[in-house]
Amino acid sequence: MSESQNIMERTEKAVLHTYNRFPVVFDRGQGVHLYDVDGKKYLDFGAGIAVFALGYGNQEYNDALKDQIDKIVHTSNLYYHKPLMEAAEKVIAHTGLSKVFFTNSGAEAIEGAIKAARKYAYMKDGKNDHEIIAMNHSFHGRTVGALSVTGNSHYQDPFKPLMGGVKFADFNDLESVRALVDDRTCAIILETVQGEGGIHPATPEFLHGVRKICDENDILLILDEIQCGMGRTGNWFACDAYGVKPDIMTLAKALGCGVPVGAFVLNEKAAAHSLEPGDHGTTYGGNPFACAAVSKVFDLFEKLDLVQHVRDTAPYLEKKLDEVAAKYDFITDRRGMGFLQGLELSADHPVGPVVAKALEHGLVILSAGGNVIRFAPPLVVTEKDIAKMIPILEESLDA
Ligand SMILES: *Cc1c(COP(=O)(O)O)cnc(C)c1O
Repeated sequence: MSESQNIMERTEKAVLHTYNRFPVVFDRGQGVHLYDVDGKKYLDFGAGIAVFALGYGNQEYNDALKDQIDKIVHTSNLYYHKPLMEAAEKVIAHTGLSKVFFTNSGAEAIEGAIKAARKYAYMKDGKNDHEIIAMNHSFHGRTVGALSVTGNSHYQDPFKPLMGGVKFADFNDLESVRALVDDRTCAIILETVQGEGGIHPATPEFLHGVRKICDENDILLILDEIQCGMGRTGNWFACDAYGVKPDIMTLAKALGCGVPVGAFVLNEKAAAHSLEPGDHGTTYGGNPFACAAVSKVFDLFEKLDLVQHVRDTAPYLEKKLDEVAAKYDFITDRRGMGFLQGLELSADHPVGPVVAKALEHGLVILSAGGNVIRFAPPLVVTEKDIAKMIPILEESLDA
């Protein structure tokens, strides 16, 4: 039996079967390439689901993690440590918000944002009946709270009853949001660009309209930038492209570039009137190792001028994908922002086999809801990498 066969079989025996994994055993990465245990090379346009922005094997990133491991990995949140200070200051500076709480994942960042919003409303009127408006086709994570605001019945139904007090509106339909607002509404939560749901950017009218509804009714706007934040759209955060600021922003994925870390970030108003000592906590969250990663990620984004690189390079990706879309009559749409792009296929052309075929041909791409091929490469990809990706994509579409 080959080594990869052995690893796959033993993994399936021991790991709970919640994923239908592709039959590949990855071993290492270099730049925008992954290598499996048999030494086969793959061009990566998935980045571990929009996580590894820096490209694999960035020596400075690796050294920062190793240095922190040698100093201390964990202390708990009962004490201060310098990586926390540094990481927090960088998150604050870049988001333009005021206070951050570090979590271990994206879902936990959503949990924290939900709690902060509920507490904010509770402190105002002392009532326990506050509601959150979320969007259909959204994705906010798999924990019970995050799942409760995820507008996908396939994910939700087996686990009901979920957290109460959630209503769903249609993304990019302002009137459907307005119709749900009443004096119990404490927050509106949405992804600035819906990722998992099929790569749908918010329209400017919608995002500005929701911001206005929130301002007029003292409702907190929670923007989930877990996937679309951290430079992915060619802006530090996707909402920057709209000139809209949330009251609470959630981050994860590229925030630690692979070290499991998320965050919810609050503006002055939300921070001053919500969670207090005793209200929220985490044993690991924001530990020295995670914070060293966050801190170095921000430094490297600056040093590599990654946001500008995405801005400069993404139009080429869009152009090439538009050309592909024009060639195949079963590609019905190309949409996205920056390095978060989707090609939508018609219903009679399921996306799964295309993704599997691409992998066979040495290209990692992702799928997203609504029959969409999702492109979320490491942010360091160049026009040359994109030019190499296109023929492999076409081969996979042909098959
Ligand atoms: C991935 C994702 C999450 C959940 O993050 P986890 O780290 O998997 O818990 C939440 N929101 C969005 C928009 C995501 O893309």
